[in-house]
Amino acid sequence: MTLRSGEQYLASLRDSRRVIYAGQSVDVLEDAAFARTARAIAQFYDFQCLPENRDVMTFETPAGTRAGMAFKLPTSREVLRERAAAYALWAEVTCGCLGRSPDYMNACMAALAVASGPLARVSPEQGRRAAALYERIRDEDLCLTHTFIDPFRIPVQDQVLSTGSFAVLKETDKGIVVRGARGLATLAPLSNLNFNLGMPPIMGPDGMPLSCSFVVPVGSEAVRWICRDLVMSQKSTFDAPLSSRADEMDCVAIFDDCEIPWEDVCIHAKGADMLAIGTVLKTADSMVRHQVLVRGIAKLRFMLGLAHMLADSSGISQFINIRAKLGEIVDFIHTLQAFAVTATEGAETDPETGYVLPPAEALNVAVHSYGRFHKATVDILLELGASRHVSTPQEATLDALGPQIEAYFKAKAGSASQNVALCRLAWDVAGSEWGTRQTLYEQFNSGDPTLTRVARYLRYDMKAAMGMVKRILGNPPTPSEPFPAPKRTSG
Ligand SMILES: Cc1cc2nc3c(=O)[nH]c(=O)nc-3n(C[C@H](O)[C@H](O)[C@H](O)COP(=O)(O)OP(=O)(O)OC[C@H]3O[C@@H](n4cnc5c(N)ncnc54)[C@H](O)[C@@H]3O)c2cc1C
Repeated sequence: MTLRSGEQYLASLRDSRRVIYAGQSVDVLEDAAFARTARAIAQFYDFQCLPENRDVMTFETPAGTRAGMAFKLPTSREVLRERAAAYALWAEVTCGCLGRSPDYMNACMAALAVASGPLARVSPEQGRRAAALYERIRDEDLCLTHTFIDPFRIPVQDQVLSTGSFAVLKETDKGIVVRGARGLATLAPLSNLNFNLGMPPIMGPDGMPLSCSFVVPVGSEAVRWICRDLVMSQKSTFDAPLSSRADEMDCVAIFDDCEIPWEDVCIHAKGADMLAIGTVLKTADSMVRHQVLVRGIAKLRFMLGLAHMLADSSGISQFINIRAKLGEIVDFIHTLQAFAVTATEGAETDPETGYVLPPAEALNVAVHSYGRFHKATVDILLELGASRHVSTPQEATLDALGPQIEAYFKAKAGSASQNVALCRLAWDVAGSEWGTRQTLYEQFNSGDPTLTRVARYLRYDMKAAMGMVKRILGNPPTPSEPFPAPKRTSG
């Protein structure tokens, strides 16, 4: 098989999936809100098939078929540029508002293939399965979700012992049997497979920690997908310009003694072998975060345009403090663009995998900075709009009273309708339920920003930094050297 059309993707959702919303099983193709989001994902598949997008969005596989560009393995900086161009083209369509369009997990699967070499050094069989999984998902152009947290977990040692914890109950000659809850599967109801990451470790059948990565069909009868409240608005696209388009549902997965065949288990490591998963995570960090970064740039550009137009529409853009706020968003974009250059031009051949990977630490900083920039931009949108966010009538009111209220809602825009539409869009992004979930997503989807910052601090080479301090403290100025120069070794 090769690239799927939107219709083929939609047809693939017709299976026995158990998506639970408000106590009921939902048919995701029949329920209006789920079906509308499914169409937004279907658009991705149609978009990459369009003749004019084909060269940017897809590539030729070794077998001569075409596959999504995010599946292309990064053998050079040029491939990283190609991957970035594909992310950017699609993100332009959605204004960066679909966090989990399929290219996100496609990048994750490419990372799995990249890490399959080091995995094979620990276990040839698991390395083979990882590479085979990647090829299958690429060639069938499947849509994935992923799980890697224990929802509502009790931290530290209780985590492994708590009854709700996710665990491998037993291992048979056919595969493993898993039970428990796993989160948080964004887009699960509209995906084909779930990829469960092997970190943090879970409890194995012998009660010992186990790193276990596998895929499971979303349509498996042994998994239930428990949905949060919908944040999709039922309002018209005028009243809710973005939140009426798509809601990438987040789900807790409940595995009811679900059997996973060995062929679908690509990491199964205990003790020291668990370190092997580190390579997968590091590779996924750099490759997936590259997609997050490029999409984030598109989204901030969109939010800048919105903030600028909002400020202009009420005439406040003449004030210097307002311009400074808009300038702050511009700075955010420049900062992320610098990271994007680093991602490709600073990429080096990774000695472990042999592939050219974006620098993981820089990408780590980039996406967590982006989470903060997004939140700060939301705050700016709220401040710029102030009471306009809560003074906006509905489309139906404008239709009913149009000429009578035109002058009162027009501000500096061409018409009341244009001004209200702009304010409603700003509220949708910054203040609606949908917007709040987006802000949470941008902060947390790449892991906990606080703990990852702490980890970066602990990893940082303090020796050289402290050496500078010690040099100043330990060496008074001399006439020839007001600043004591560091000792340099020749050669
Ligand atoms: C909208 C959304 C979509 C998501 N989609 C996915 C997905 O598709 N797949 C997936 O697997 N995950 C997904 N996640 C989960 C995401 O990876 C986690 O939110 C993230 O890793 C943080 O974990 P947590 O939510 O359990 O927060 P917690 O770990 O419970 O942390 C809550 C707060 O406590 C603080 N904290 C936690 N531990 C410590 C500590 N030891 N010391 C000090 N402070 C601490 C954190 O900084 C944080 O502010 C999603 C999250 C969101 C919000």
